[in-house]
Amino acid sequence: GNIRPEPISHCVERARNLTESQVTSRGHSISMENVSDSVMVEMERDKIVQVLINLVRNAIEAMEQPGHIHIQVQQTDSVVTIDVSDTGKGIPEDLLPKIFDPFYTTKEEGTGLGLSICHKIIQDHNGTLTVKSMESEGSVFTITLPVLTEGA
Ligand code: ADP
Ligand code: MG
Repeated sequence: GNIRPEPISHCVERARNLTESQVTSRGHSISMENVSDSVMVEMERDKIVQVLINLVRNAIEAMEQPGHIHIQVQQTDSVVTIDVSDTGKGIPEDLLPKIFDPFYTTKEEGTGLGLSICHKIIQDHNGTLTVKSMESEGSVFTITLPVLTEGA
């Protein structure tokens, strides 16, 4: 791979730009907050962008009515968290443990591979990918990644 220090903001902005037309053409909106250029992560940038695009695409597919996607980046000590939240249909609690399994899908034309690939990519970056969801309210997928600190 091509692993190097990159500002996490660049990935988030790139993923937002690459998905914006899919979001807006379906009547949804997308917003971002708190993205400082100073938070650096050792990463293969295209893979992290791929993860974010997958999460946004799943969010789009979960919203039957025009909805909202929000991306929030927060740094806490040595970790950065990226929340991708939607106002979609949510995930029933009993199905939550299955959604990261390869080939698990509830979609007629789904592959069920997106989240398992995302999970693997984030694991390969020494991070975590978790989800919180409320049926008929929406879902929040949270990526955590170790922050590159100067002199470390
Ligand atoms: P696919 O999108 O091909 O179905 P994924 O691995 O991306 O495969 O997702 C697996 C399943 O997890 C989806 O079929 C869906 O049931 C559920 N899921 C993923 N993201 C969301 C979301 N944002 N809101 C509701 N359900 C979701
Ligand atoms: Mg998917």
